[in-house]
Amino acid sequence: MSKKNTVLITGASRGIGKAIAKIFAQNGYDLYLCCKNNIETLTDYGKELSEKYGITAVTTVCDVSFEADVISMFKTISNSSIGYPEVVINNAGIAWYGLLSDMTADEWHKMIGTNLDSVFYMSKNAIPHMVRNGHGKIINITSVWGQVGASCEVAYSASKGGVNSFTKALAKELAPSGIQVNAIACGAIDTEMNSSHLSEDELSELTSEIPADRLGTPEEVAELAFNLVQSPAYLTGQIITLDGAWI
Ligand code: NAP
Repeated sequence: MSKKNTVLITGASRGIGKAIAKIFAQNGYDLYLCCKNNIETLTDYGKELSEKYGITAVTTVCDVSFEADVISMFKTISNSSIGYPEVVINNAGIAWYGLLSDMTADEWHKMIGTNLDSVFYMSKNAIPHMVRNGHGKIINITSVWGQVGASCEVAYSASKGGVNSFTKALAKELAPSGIQVNAIACGAIDTEMNSSHLSEDELSELTSEIPADRLGTPEEVAELAFNLVQSPAYLTGQIITLDGAWI
């Protein structure tokens, strides 16, 4: 039996990561899925995708903001039957809303650790296998705030701006090895990240500012991520905006 392609997706227990897992499973990829907290939900979801699409889904707890957790996940991967991932999607992320002057240093470090340091840890561990194979794809899920900045989301904007620069720089470093590195800069996507902190009135005010007149869906981000994996390796170092013409 020929080996299936494998994708590793961080933060797959809900929202965008969950939708990305589904589209790759539908297309016959084996999956490594991780999250920090909701492992039971993630494991049930992995089983559902395996049964429905005839793929293997390995689910694990990994706090991507801790290098030791990421190293340990890659050790598990090296011993697993489905092998190293050809595609790595750095999706796990958190938000924090408020004035920068009210943010504690711990909150700042948690934000930068989860949204930016994680992308370094994941890439560092994924790259050696990709280089040996002469191909690989890294997709970082980032935000329009990383391009233009948002009031009351300074740390978030800084973390995503960091991921954008990281993406462009790493693409230059890895293009000679045939490895593609791109990012999807999302606008407002309909997930818990927004619904958990915005009232209905605030959501409708936000929607009215978006020319497409609606929030994006996790499935649209997933479709773009899958299309990027199908794209020629020459398409690399790009920050592709998916925001309904908002920004
Ligand atoms: P979400 O619904 O809040 O889901 C976040 C996911 O990340 C969950 O699966 C969560 O799992 C996981 N996670 C959080 N911290 C983690 C950690 N330290 N280690 C491992 N997993 C962790 O968010 P979303 O809206 O789908 O966002 C996904 C990505 O898109 C994020 O990077 C976000 O910044 C970006 N984005 C979202 C929007 C939007 O409007 N929704 C816009 C722009 C960019 P557990 O809680 O189970 O650990």
